[in-house]
Amino acid sequence: MSFTAELEFAIETVRSAVRICREVQGEIAPGRWDKEDRTPVTVADLAVQAVVSAALAEGFPQDPLMGEEGSSELREPAWADLLAKVTDHVHLVRSERPESGRILDWIERGQQSIDPDRRYWVLDPVDGTKGFLRKEQYAIALALIERGRVLLGVLACPNLPAVIGPSASPVAATFGQIYAAAAGRGAERLDLGPRDTIVRRNPMHVARTEDPALARWCERVESSDRNHDLTSQVVEKVGIRSAPDRLDSQAKYAVVARGEASLYLRHSLNKEYREKVWDHAAGVVITEEAGGKVTDVFGQPLDFRQGRTLLNNHGIVATNGALHDRVLAAVADVLGHRS
Ligand code: AMP
Ligand code: MG
Repeated sequence: MSFTAELEFAIETVRSAVRICREVQGEIAPGRWDKEDRTPVTVADLAVQAVVSAALAEGFPQDPLMGEEGSSELREPAWADLLAKVTDHVHLVRSERPESGRILDWIERGQQSIDPDRRYWVLDPVDGTKGFLRKEQYAIALALIERGRVLLGVLACPNLPAVIGPSASPVAATFGQIYAAAAGRGAERLDLGPRDTIVRRNPMHVARTEDPALARWCERVESSDRNHDLTSQVVEKVGIRSAPDRLDSQAKYAVVARGEASLYLRHSLNKEYREKVWDHAAGVVITEEAGGKVTDVFGQPLDFRQGRTLLNNHGIVATNGALHDRVLAAVADVLGHRS
């Protein structure tokens, strides 16, 4: 099966939801945002989950949804103002102004129980919430999984420059891009233009470099200094000389898949931490279909059959393939048993 209908549906659904994020982010006045106030990202998170869930319920009513958000807090009377804001933003995408009960039910679909033997959708409505609040990188991430296999993934990166790194133009405006892949069918980049129209759509491939000295790499913004220090020791051992591109969200997978970075390295100093399925599913299939490789820091394949977390994995190593084994060896040397 090629899942063409599902892929096109997912692209269109995610594309339409970008409008919500842009509106909400546009309402955060520069410099006037109170860092303690997470209301903007909460509105975007809940409204995006509502519209994507509603679209999936209409398009593929048999498929359950694993979404990051739930509706329980929003059902409390104290949160009525927030629910009104969410409803306003859902209305930007859906022609009708839905009753609040329907919005709550759409959001709550994300908490459905999942049978790993049946296919299900996975949604991170606003991945990289810290980046969203800083007006930097964030993504809307939607994937379809069946029996532990990611069948397709779509990532919208509305703030990602067309090019990052040394050759990037400091003035070039960006409307962002959508990245999409279905297993066995390759990965594509769809450039967005004004009003989120798709202005270009092309296949994409990871960087072909085997020489670490020519490779670039990326990692999280939100790691501790100690964590950043360890990742730079790993890349130094590999022979990579560049400074990292630090990006929030699954935009990191996108920059590997489109060939700018040859490595995305992620690990947690907290051994108990387990990666969330919605933080990776879409990015993984896009990177692999672009010719890259993704494992955990021990070289194990990611096990998407363990519910809402990657229970059997630690950290992430996403590469262009050519550098993968060298990175795993360096990770073993530097991180040892810490990972
Ligand atoms: P990023 O934008 O790559 O920093 O990833 C953001 C995601 O990291 C959030 O959505 C969380 O699910 C996840 N996260 C939160 N705490 C940790 C942690 N200690 N280690 C790894 N990931 C985390
Ligand atoms: Mg996330």
